[in-house]
Amino acid sequence: GHRVLLFGNIERPEDVSTVLAAGGDGVGLFRTEFLFDNPSRPPTEERHYEAYRRAAEGLRGKPIVIRTLDLGGDKVQAEPMPESERNPFMGLRSLRYCLARPEVFLPQLRAILRAAVHGDVRIMFPMVSSVEEVRRAKELLAEAAGQLEREGIAHRSDLPVGVMVETPAAAIAADVLAPEVTFFSVGTNDLIQYAMAVDRGNERVANLYQPAHPAILRLLSGVIRIGVEKRVEVAVCGEICGEPDFTMLLLGLGILELSLSPAMIPQIKRVIRSVTMAKAREVADTALQKLEAGETEQYLHAMLRQVFPMIF
Ligand code: PEP
Ligand code: MG
Repeated sequence: GHRVLLFGNIERPEDVSTVLAAGGDGVGLFRTEFLFDNPSRPPTEERHYEAYRRAAEGLRGKPIVIRTLDLGGDKVQAEPMPESERNPFMGLRSLRYCLARPEVFLPQLRAILRAAVHGDVRIMFPMVSSVEEVRRAKELLAEAAGQLEREGIAHRSDLPVGVMVETPAAAIAADVLAPEVTFFSVGTNDLIQYAMAVDRGNERVANLYQPAHPAILRLLSGVIRIGVEKRVEVAVCGEICGEPDFTMLLLGLGILELSLSPAMIPQIKRVIRSVTMAKAREVADTALQKLEAGETEQYLHAMLRQVFPMIF
């Protein structure tokens, strides 16, 4: 009696066919950094537009969430990093960089609005940490729409606007961001990194990167509660969506939209179809009471084995 939507995470327009072949409901995260393959020359509006139009058309009416440039950190650099940028994960990256460089950001925003004519396109801003950033990004989006209007170029300006909840600030103060957006997408990859102060790509501290840590479960359940209260849709798009051990936990916490690697969609779908919502809620409630991440992981694994032994 519950509809759970499974979207694909993609990195190029051609990945859309993989999402459809895997039975996905659309694209929940289109990472657009691939367009930034030449740091000395940012992509033109046309290049952005072609990529987004292709992806939107390929989905034949199914939704696509286009995430604006998330440059820096572990991803493609926007420009050569200055000496002073000693901690690039916390530096001038992602949305911060885009707000500081409207000449790089506006072509992307214009292209997304133009591509929206060709499908169910939604826009999402990454690495938000305060409401000012969201407001400023929306101002630039409105400016892009105004320009297109004046130039008589076909576009849509009524796109749903969402933000990634992937900094602890965004998760803790999600109620402050809620009035500005129609959806949240929790990026657990970065949320875990920033909440636990553990570099997501550093093997030496990989054991401390704990998706089942009590702090992460509390952050997640807090964002979901705020989403319900403020009527903001909450999806999750981090790697945990593709991990069967976490499926019941996410459902039980109240997540009904997951975006994951397309290859994992069929398997996660089977897990979802093997479990009742009552069981998932029981699993989430029990997990929330545990004190150690390792113990929670073992518990989640045992529960999966119980409801879906075939997976092993
Ligand atoms: C995330 O941070 O969880 C996420 C989905 O985005 P990315 O992995 O691209 O940072
Ligand atoms: Mg991220």
